[in-house]
Amino acid sequence: MAADLTVEILDLLVCPNCHARLALDYEASELVCTNPDCALAYPIRGGIPYLLIDEARRPGPQP
Ligand SMILES: [Zn+2]
Repeated sequence: MAADLTVEILDLLVCPNCHARLALDYEASELVCTNPDCALAYPIRGGIPYLLIDEARRPGPQP
């Protein structure tokens, strides 16, 4: 789960879209880009973050 990710690992990860820092969202098991102009959310599956733009959830209001 997301809890396996340490702060040290988070420090190494950046958004592949805009290279901003990522914030861990425990409840959603996602890594969320801290750049408000990007704000992509990357899924974490089995403790492994998938930092792929194709896998990211797009920001904005849900339909
Ligand atoms: Zn970003």
